[in-house]
Amino acid sequence: MKGRLNLRRWAALVTALILTVVLWGSSVFVFTHLSHECTGRNCRVCHELEICVSAISVISEAIGTATAVVVSCQIINYTVLPYFAGLFLCPVSLVDLKIRMDD
Ligand SMILES: [Zn+2]
Repeated sequence: MKGRLNLRRWAALVTALILTVVLWGSSVFVFTHLSHECTGRNCRVCHELEICVSAISVISEAIGTATAVVVSCQIINYTVLPYFAGLFLCPVSLVDLKIRMDD
């Protein structure tokens, strides 16, 4: 179990590093080659720029979606599930607790 967790952590770390390198490299390429001497149609630099912009877009969307899913799961775990658990699993009333309201 402990070794498995380490493997998952390593996989997450390697994935994060790869995504960071791809994002950083694509951004640097776009910024450095944005103003180039374009040969017009079939320009290799323009083709590479399109690939870099596409990679940045896809990775950004994936990170945004993953963040939304993680935040939603945390909200459900810490607010909605305890609320419904308290509502349905242990209904409490003054009669159930045998509390007299004589005053
Ligand atoms: Zn070009």
